[in-house]
Amino acid sequence: MSPTKAPFSFDNSYQKLPGHFYAGVSPTPVREPRLIQLNKDLCKELEIDPEFLAENGVPFFSGNEAPQGAAHIAQVYAGHQFGNFVPQLGDGRAILLGEVLDRHGLRRDIQLKGAGPTPFSRRGDGRAALGPVLREYLLSEAMHALGIPTTRALAAVSTGESVQREGAEQGAIFTRVAASHVRVGTFEYFSAREDEVSLKQLADYVIHRHYPECLASERPYLKLLERVAERQTLLVSRWMQVGFIHGVMNTDNMAVSGETIDYGPCAFLDHYNPDMVFSAIDRGGRYAFSNQPRIAQWNLARFAETLLPFLDPAPEEALRLAMEVITKMPEQAEEHRMAGLRAKFGLATTAPEDAALFEGFFKLLQESEADFTLSFRALCAAAANTQSEAAELQFFSPPEAFDPWVKQWRSRCEREPIHPAERAVAMRQVNPAVIPRNHRVAEAISAASQSGDFSVFERLLNTLKRPFEAPRDFPEAVAQPLPHERVLRTFCGT
Ligand code: AMP
Ligand code: MG
Repeated sequence: MSPTKAPFSFDNSYQKLPGHFYAGVSPTPVREPRLIQLNKDLCKELEIDPEFLAENGVPFFSGNEAPQGAAHIAQVYAGHQFGNFVPQLGDGRAILLGEVLDRHGLRRDIQLKGAGPTPFSRRGDGRAALGPVLREYLLSEAMHALGIPTTRALAAVSTGESVQREGAEQGAIFTRVAASHVRVGTFEYFSAREDEVSLKQLADYVIHRHYPECLASERPYLKLLERVAERQTLLVSRWMQVGFIHGVMNTDNMAVSGETIDYGPCAFLDHYNPDMVFSAIDRGGRYAFSNQPRIAQWNLARFAETLLPFLDPAPEEALRLAMEVITKMPEQAEEHRMAGLRAKFGLATTAPEDAALFEGFFKLLQESEADFTLSFRALCAAAANTQSEAAELQFFSPPEAFDPWVKQWRSRCEREPIHPAERAVAMRQVNPAVIPRNHRVAEAISAASQSGDFSVFERLLNTLKRPFEAPRDFPEAVAQPLPHERVLRTFCGT
């Protein structure tokens, strides 16, 4: 492959790290690539020309041509998968095209996912199937629109080749943009080899790239641990507030930048159930909805272990400092949870009975198998209409079961000097109307893969860009699934 035009102004930094941090590898060309989708808004954010890429981007997004200055590396990492340590994983089907500085001067990775085998592919083919590519596109863009830190979708192409999964499926390549692809597992890789020199280089790299404020600290590596813990705690609490289940919170799927990464069998709750698990491979429910804050803490403990040599020269003191950060996480998570819920329930102040009020609502939701998203939207509407018997409350079934709770909530709201209309507006800004519902995502994927019809995918994608407005022209996007439409199992699809 010879370098051609220069659509990206690459400024590659990871490549300057020692050679054992990655493997140089070129994408494997594909037969007949076609553009499925290009994210023009994101192009603008990255200061790359959307029109040029719409016309000429396919060779780059398919790996058939190398853009000038491409890095073409696969990063090495390790990770705890379902609690078990795997000493070497790495990008088995992802190749870093390069890094660019975006409009705000932030460094962003552009990575091809499904671009062919790498030295880390193990038994995998290095490819991606169309379904999971469309899924990651929809889910990651939906998360972004919800205001939740996430990797982004820049482009998707079909390859014209088939990949073997359960059966033969169409191949595709996803172009992902991330603040970086450094994972907790990247640290674990060097830690497992007791390679403190590399670990320190990695920690310094991450500090410079993501947490430069640590440089001003007397203990920069402790500060790094604190900052990563804070961002992960906040991230997971944001997930919980919209009913998102990541599904595979292995340490190799946790980015130290604090972005949601590696969308596999993830899903959004329809009916509320804190024990919900969608992923077909999560048999023990390790990554169940309500377990996510605990798992974030577990993962951060693994991260902390890798930093111990740099926290203090005395091992006991290093351990004490690390433990202090990790044990603080649940308290921080609880603060975020309560702040988030106050906003969801339309409260601007704090009162001692709030926790019980919120728990009461969730208990009712669970008992009545009410839809998580629509229940909060019903409350938004009821907030504007202050009649106790507001029509919107008919959503709950049976409505009488919610009566005592509604009275409590109303009297709590009345103690705040906020106009009901104003409260409803504020609530609608944090309680989405549209989430990427599993059955809608599945419908978009099957229309594309079974009949080559991408219009269902595009319509859903466009609707997900404005999650806080109920779309007039696409009411089905808001509705909860009918019993026969419910999707209760999701798959990695790798
Ligand atoms: P994931 O479950 O997608 O987070 O991936 C776990 C590990 O398996 C990572 O090292 C991936 O790069 C690798 N992997 C997943 N799918 C493939 C594939 N089709 N070919 C090669 N490696 C893969
Ligand atoms: Mg992964």
